[in-house]
Amino acid sequence: MTTATTVPSHDTDWLIVGGGIVGAAIAWGLARAGQRAMLLDEGDDAFRAARGNFGLVWVQGKGLGHPAYARWTLEAAAAWPAFAAELADRTGVDVELVRVGGMTMCLDDDELAARAGALASIRDAVGIDYPFEVLDPGALRERVPQAGRDLAGAVFCPLDGHVSPLRLLRALLQAFVDAGGVLHTGTRIDRIEARGGGFVAHAAARAYGAGRIVLAAGLGNRSLAPMVGLRAPVVPNRGQVLISERVQPFLRYPTLHVRQTGDGGVQIGDSKEDVGFDDGTTIDQLARITARALRCFPLLAGVNIVRSWGALRVMSPDGLPIYEASTRCPGAFVASCHSGITLAAQHAGALVAWMRGGAAPAALAAFGSERFDVQAA
Ligand SMILES: Cc1cc2nc3c(=O)[nH]c(=O)nc-3n(C[C@H](O)[C@H](O)[C@H](O)COP(=O)(O)OP(=O)(O)OC[C@H]3O[C@@H](n4cnc5c(N)ncnc54)[C@H](O)[C@@H]3O)c2cc1C
Repeated sequence: MTTATTVPSHDTDWLIVGGGIVGAAIAWGLARAGQRAMLLDEGDDAFRAARGNFGLVWVQGKGLGHPAYARWTLEAAAAWPAFAAELADRTGVDVELVRVGGMTMCLDDDELAARAGALASIRDAVGIDYPFEVLDPGALRERVPQAGRDLAGAVFCPLDGHVSPLRLLRALLQAFVDAGGVLHTGTRIDRIEARGGGFVAHAAARAYGAGRIVLAAGLGNRSLAPMVGLRAPVVPNRGQVLISERVQPFLRYPTLHVRQTGDGGVQIGDSKEDVGFDDGTTIDQLARITARALRCFPLLAGVNIVRSWGALRVMSPDGLPIYEASTRCPGAFVASCHSGITLAAQHAGALVAWMRGGAAPAALAAFGSERFDVQAA
């Protein structure tokens, strides 16, 4: 058996460190392209946004002040239907993509005006089709009859949608393994060496060698990236979420704070809290989240909550993704983002094509870590 001291030559062509939604999408993209790839995931004790998120494939509002991010998100949303269909075809797993548009419900006129203004500004900056509608209370209730009577309205974007994030993770991992990928769970990588034109990733029990390595370890990227000349200054940001018992279908459109899942449960979210690595829940935040949901959908007053949880977002200093190829250690890449569900199709497609040596997608220039030096200056 290989140990951490007897370093293997190349076990595979690609190592992907981190089997959350970003690592799984990249791993699947590589295996689909016929690459030999091995996915190393820390496992159940790790922080995993992939297992605690809200499941939105969301366009509206992404990229205010950052048109490259808005365009990257638009491309990802457009790629989603084919991506979901291919996963279903290959694995039999329906990720429950619903792409009928999404709503941001607004409690008062100021909220509605701010939201509409933000979307108008993104539309003007992206320079491509960026459809949305501002709905007054009457128009909102025409589309969502169960909406609260005292809402100011909503902003609707026809490009928004949602999926089952757990089904997505399962489908990606299954598709990866079915395409010949090797998955090691319970494998935490503590150290990475660039050696002999490749990389050696050290876990407690053994080491893994490959010619190329992709760091997709979520919050773990922060400490791993500098080992191969990269940077990922990501920090945790907690979101608390609740889910209800199953109820009759009542909500056709996903909304930013409330969505009805494929099995009828109502998912309600979420908070944005700077509390370090605490992924617990608090009564005050759950009460605030629930109060907002009740104003949006008063019918929820009679519905039982069955579960709540906290999960940690993977946040960069400016909230944008970080994608970078190492110049000090060629063959090493880092990928971090806080919209891993929305961007999954891009990660499996355009991002993997670039990592394999293809042309860099236009948006990529905006996502290198050198931008943090400019921002600091
Ligand atoms: C409350 C909440 C709601 C969200 N809602 C949405 C949404 O609606 N839509 C959307 O697009 N995004 C949403 N997100 C964000 C989305 O979940 C994340 O962008 C995504 O999960 C990040 O994926 P990741 O793979 O980078 O990190 P994670 O999902 O956190 O996974 C990281 C993985 O790396 C592994 N790992 C860590 N360190 C190591 C190591 N040293 N060695 C080996 N493995 C390691 C862990 O085991 C883990 O599996 C939400 C997040 C939260 C918290």
